[in-house]
Amino acid sequence: MSYQAAENRYDKMIYNRVGKSGLKLPAVSLGMWHNFGDVDLFDKSRAIVTRAFDLGITHFDLANNYGPPAGSAEENFGRIFEKDLKPYRDELIISSKAGYYMWPGPYGEFGSKKNLTASIDQSLNRMGLDYVDIFYSHRPDVNTPFEETAQALDLMVRQGKALYIGISNYSAEQTAEISAIFKELKTPFIIHQPSYSMFNRWIEDGLQDVLSENGTGTIAYSPLAQGLLTDRYLDGIPEDSRAGRSSSPFLQEDQVHENIAKSRALNEIAKRRGQSLAQMAVAWILRDQKVTSVLIGASRVAQLEDNVKALDNIHFTAEELNEIDAILNE
Ligand code: NDP
Repeated sequence: MSYQAAENRYDKMIYNRVGKSGLKLPAVSLGMWHNFGDVDLFDKSRAIVTRAFDLGITHFDLANNYGPPAGSAEENFGRIFEKDLKPYRDELIISSKAGYYMWPGPYGEFGSKKNLTASIDQSLNRMGLDYVDIFYSHRPDVNTPFEETAQALDLMVRQGKALYIGISNYSAEQTAEISAIFKELKTPFIIHQPSYSMFNRWIEDGLQDVLSENGTGTIAYSPLAQGLLTDRYLDGIPEDSRAGRSSSPFLQEDQVHENIAKSRALNEIAKRRGQSLAQMAVAWILRDQKVTSVLIGASRVAQLEDNVKALDNIHFTAEELNEIDAILNE
């Protein structure tokens, strides 16, 4: 069956400007780190992507190493693009990244011109695209001069392989340093992708100031702390969850046990607000308009729908915020 996008797809989604750029991103974007690899069911991945677009999610985030196996998320996204999304290319913001280990030898990771130049070509091939909308340096590389990394990213834009540039996982100081280089080069560097959630607030300690001074947007990854800030683990660890599946080493059972008391306490506040915990976690990130987009993951369509409904209420009273802080600081 050929896919027809829902006609009402733009009715409810909120679109926020990325820093001082001309680009807007949906308040909720979809990431493909998990659930889109060859270890996952293609039809399920496809259903999540098409439902996301029907809900107004125009932004899909990838990286060369997403899978597993590495590269397979881009390949699977490419298949979904070819089958379903191709007619809508001008309505989509597709991003990819390079920086983490991808191929053997000295050039398969980090931030050299050699790595980044080869990586973007590989990603475009895997996805079957002529260009990506945003290309990121996935992590800072302290052994490569930031000038080299910035120039390699700038070149992608000049070659028409990427429209905008982003960085991910750079500290406040590293962000300030590379921002100055991008400014000199006149690179359309518009966005930072850091981790950020109620359980992980490091960006409030300096990075957010640097980004606002430079007019750079923010897209927050792992906003649900990989599922800890949802109802997934409130009654134990389901076998099919990220913490329960052996194919993901990124969320351990210990982390679930360490955080469960806080998740349960937060869930009580969410209930009073008439939201699921996941919805409150998404809304909390959008509470003060410092974050452009919340980059969620989803292993099924119902989770995606749940998370997008967060936009029905992103307002918090001062009391609610204080109560949340008190739980987080316990
Ligand atoms: P989240 O914190 O949103 O975690 C997603 C997981 O939470 C899902 O796989 C699912 O877990 C669970 N979940 C989601 N919604 C619900 C819900 N409504 N109810 C119950 N459970 C729910 O984000 P991710 O860690 O997946 O990261 C999101 C994206 O951010 C990635 O895909 C990637 O694009 C980006 N990212 C970037 C990084 C970087 O270095 N730049 C690093 C990490 C992520 P389950 O599978 O158990 O069902």
